[in-house]
Amino acid sequence: MSDLISLFGNRDDEPTPDEPEAEAKRSFFDRMRQAVSRTRESLSSKIEGIVALTRTVDESTLEDLENALLASDLGLPTTTAILDALRDRARRKGIDGGEELRMLLKEQIRAILEEPRRVIPTPVTPPKVTFLVGVNGTGKTTTSGKLAAWSRSQGHSVLLCAADTFRAAAIEQLEIWASRSGVEMIKTRQGGDPAAVLYDAVTAARARGIHDLYVDTAGRLHTKTGLMDELDKMRRTAARLIQDAPHEVLLVMDATTGQNGLQQARLFTQAAGVTGIVLTKLDGTAKGGIAVAIARELNLPVRFVGVGEKMTDLLEFSPAEFVDSLLG
Ligand code: GDP
Repeated sequence: MSDLISLFGNRDDEPTPDEPEAEAKRSFFDRMRQAVSRTRESLSSKIEGIVALTRTVDESTLEDLENALLASDLGLPTTTAILDALRDRARRKGIDGGEELRMLLKEQIRAILEEPRRVIPTPVTPPKVTFLVGVNGTGKTTTSGKLAAWSRSQGHSVLLCAADTFRAAAIEQLEIWASRSGVEMIKTRQGGDPAAVLYDAVTAARARGIHDLYVDTAGRLHTKTGLMDELDKMRRTAARLIQDAPHEVLLVMDATTGQNGLQQARLFTQAAGVTGIVLTKLDGTAKGGIAVAIARELNLPVRFVGVGEKMTDLLEFSPAEFVDSLLG
């Protein structure tokens, strides 16, 4: 545990007990700001241009804004919805210069991000079971490891379940994360039945009074119905053992794939009962606007963002902080 406390609780940029909560907020905000820096540069520089020049907001200003939003991967439907609202406002009350335009844009984006927020179910009896699903390479295994460490930093006991039995490498990789984050892991041999290893993991978690069980699933392709059936079997297995399980099904999405990832996510969402999104690799992309498209088009909350490859590079998502980081 001491390793984790030093990683999560006592970093140089974290507050000491004497420092106010505001300090922790600032550090979180700085990290979010850093993570979206490429998107901000691309979006804000264009918006800065619009804002600086704009005394009266007219149709050509709004068109410039539309192009800036599309370039940041907000996608056509979401951009159109934002622009419709702004045009409506411009017609009714007018928009008094660039600063007001920026403020209204922030309000619009924040409202979209907040819309799909939902209460995370608290399990009647522990463990809380969370599945991580998504295609290979998006960062599922890495995120499972980061989430294990994050939960421990919240004072929870954690168990990892290596249910991606398809690839030996996935089991080995998760094992490394388990030892890094100081948690135990339940696994089976490569090619074993994922529902069986899940059964063992849930049973073990229940017997040990574990708070959080994270299940790393195979990077199945949505086109392979057999694999979707497998996920369904896992859901049924979890539900038989623990009421309301799985409590969360987090779809791991790679932010760098932008709008393509969204299409993939749509198929997954329907088949796998996804309840929220982890958006990874936000650190390496100018396409961070995809978070807004996800919220609106999939009607799913972004729960966490991955901002690097290290164990601590996972931030709980906050619409307000995200919008301030992007357009503040
Ligand atoms: P999986 O196949 O979905 O389990 O994906 P992995 O967890 O193996 O991750 C694939 C690659 O993405 C690895 O090289 C990770 O280090 C990298 N990765 C995962 N999350 C992040 C992130 O938030 N930021 C960055 N920069 N890289 C990440």
